[in-house]
Amino acid sequence: MSSAENTPPKSAKPMHKLRAATRLVHGGTMRSQFGETSEAMFLTQGYVYPDMEAAEARFKGESPGFIYSRFSNPTVAMFEERMALLEGAEAARATASGMAAVTAVMLGQLKAGDHVVAAKALFGSCRYIVEELLPRFGVPSTLVDGTDLDQWRAAMQPNTKVCFLESPTNPQLEIIDIAAVAEIAHAGGANLVVDNVFATPLLQSPLEMGADCVVYSTTKHIDGQGRCLGGVILASNEFIQTHVHNFLRQTGPALSPFNAWVMLKGLETLPVRLRQQQSNAIAVADYLASRPEIARVLYPTRKDHPQYELAMRQMTGGGSVLAFDVTGGKEGAFAFANALQVIKISNNLGDAKSLITHPATTTHQRIGPEARAESGIGDGMLRLSCGLEDVEDLLDDVKAGCDAVR
Ligand SMILES: *Cc1c(COP(=O)(O)O)cnc(C)c1O
Repeated sequence: MSSAENTPPKSAKPMHKLRAATRLVHGGTMRSQFGETSEAMFLTQGYVYPDMEAAEARFKGESPGFIYSRFSNPTVAMFEERMALLEGAEAARATASGMAAVTAVMLGQLKAGDHVVAAKALFGSCRYIVEELLPRFGVPSTLVDGTDLDQWRAAMQPNTKVCFLESPTNPQLEIIDIAAVAEIAHAGGANLVVDNVFATPLLQSPLEMGADCVVYSTTKHIDGQGRCLGGVILASNEFIQTHVHNFLRQTGPALSPFNAWVMLKGLETLPVRLRQQQSNAIAVADYLASRPEIARVLYPTRKDHPQYELAMRQMTGGGSVLAFDVTGGKEGAFAFANALQVIKISNNLGDAKSLITHPATTTHQRIGPEARAESGIGDGMLRLSCGLEDVEDLLDDVKAGCDAVR
């Protein structure tokens, strides 16, 4: 890495003073001796040293540089730096998937005898970690209705080490008061971890609201075009060094440099994509709310959202995902989705392609009818992740969906 030509003049603004969209294009870039415009993809496992003394110094941590790509890699490091600049975090570590990030953050902080409090409305695999995996290693958990602060308070125990939540939640798009839960966690000596996938780093900043750590599945909006899996963990230097750094190095859920490169390029277009996807989501939500076949539309920044005020306080936009209840239960929802042409049936989200899913029979099938009813996931509910298509085509599509419901 040659850094000389990349060092900005002394008078230049430091990268963190530049605005988000600018940081997303330029942040973290390290140029090789060839001065390439676009970040290079370093598909290498290892690194060579000029002499034995250099190898010794690097292993001792006395001189900077790369040692092995399970630990770090230039392309992955560029992605991590760009993410840290975007989130306003001191440090970032990339992982092979969103679930690798969640697992590492949990196992890295916890030991037998500790306790976890988590919101019930978690991504399915996150619920598995909290409800099934951690208890096997002596870490019991209490699940609460995340929107009820009294339940968080009541669930705290002297040995509670981690509180964990997602907001907006999947698929009901409930909003959890991040600042309030952070206060409860800290009062009890616990850390708050927030899975910020639905909001993206552009619409909500959990670290500023008191969270200790933010995790993403970068598989979603950060790739944004449905290609690669990835994850990232963001926190203070101290948090990363204490809980995450060594765990990741020794257990090896490293992000591939290829996927890091895809994510790095994805970040450059994130603000433009998200703006369009959000505007498509708002237009589709407005249309659906006008149709008698749709009993309820859930979108965080709509005035009829049950937590509209909290959403407006902690988010700068409602994002690209909405949920709605079709009349006629499962039959109505299936008729709606089967009538779509442009919007594809898929359980993924955050893609350039609009994707629709029926949570009750797919992502939330496993939790059973009682847990679904308790969480407000009805048989008529559909979750729609809006993509980058022309909004008129999306509106024509959902109109056909409504017309197909009888
Ligand atoms: C997709 C997703 C995950 C898991 O991410 P992967 O990259 O699929 O491992 C975790 N949390 C939320 C909210 C997600 O949407």
